[in-house]
Amino acid sequence: MRVYIFTDLEGVGGVVLPRQVLQPGDAMYEEARLYLTREVNAAIEGALEAGANKILVLDGHGANNAYNLLLDELHEEAEVIVGSPWGRYVPCIEEGWDAIFCIGFHAMAGAEGVLEHTMSSSSWVNAYLNGKRIGELAFVAGYAGTYDIPIALVTGDDAVCKEAKQLLGDEVETVAVKKALSRTSARCLNPKKACELIKNSAKKALQNLSKMKPLKIPGPVVLRVEYLRTDMVQGYKGREGITVGERAIEVIGTTVAEAIERWLGNL
Ligand SMILES: [Zn+2]
Repeated sequence: MRVYIFTDLEGVGGVVLPRQVLQPGDAMYEEARLYLTREVNAAIEGALEAGANKILVLDGHGANNAYNLLLDELHEEAEVIVGSPWGRYVPCIEEGWDAIFCIGFHAMAGAEGVLEHTMSSSSWVNAYLNGKRIGELAFVAGYAGTYDIPIALVTGDDAVCKEAKQLLGDEVETVAVKKALSRTSARCLNPKKACELIKNSAKKALQNLSKMKPLKIPGPVVLRVEYLRTDMVQGYKGREGITVGERAIEVIGTTVAEAIERWLGNL
């Protein structure tokens, strides 16, 4: 069984402040990296117990050109993708995977979640897929769905766990490692407890994998991104398959993956 682990940082237990996710070198950012790595290792341990024999981890959080995962501490059974750009939104997905885990995820912009945003808290207001407001979880789930791969496990705060159930159904395993009290505060589980729950849920997710469905969105799909200012859409003008409005763009694709790659400029 092959498991792809897409990681982010904002949804990791103990992480609630912008400096923990935006300032490489800051002592609190370095600490957050350890928390992230421990949660990822817990997911890997659970996956291995359920019979996984190939595990790839994507260091998915963009932190001003820095690594987030601590490679020395990462479980030896996993390979890891670091650095950027990746060339594709979900690099190496075409190799074929049985399940995707989303670890350390945060809720969409506008949700009552810790460090909520969609792609960029400084330039994105909202994103929509076929008229439905979405967050980063739907970007990954829709992309994976294009390749018929289900999201089996989502970890983060209570807001992203709720988003996961709404988007993917009750079958998806979730672990809320913290409960949002505000955008920059949370009531957190003990980190050891959080890791124990992640390990157990990772195992259970793979044991129940036959019940999990890939997120299939029939094409053509329209990905709409609303930006904060007019200058943020200028670079999209004249690009095939992209309509540019005052402060928003609409990207057409036959699949979610195609729309995302077109938005990224990889098509
Ligand atoms: Zn992030």
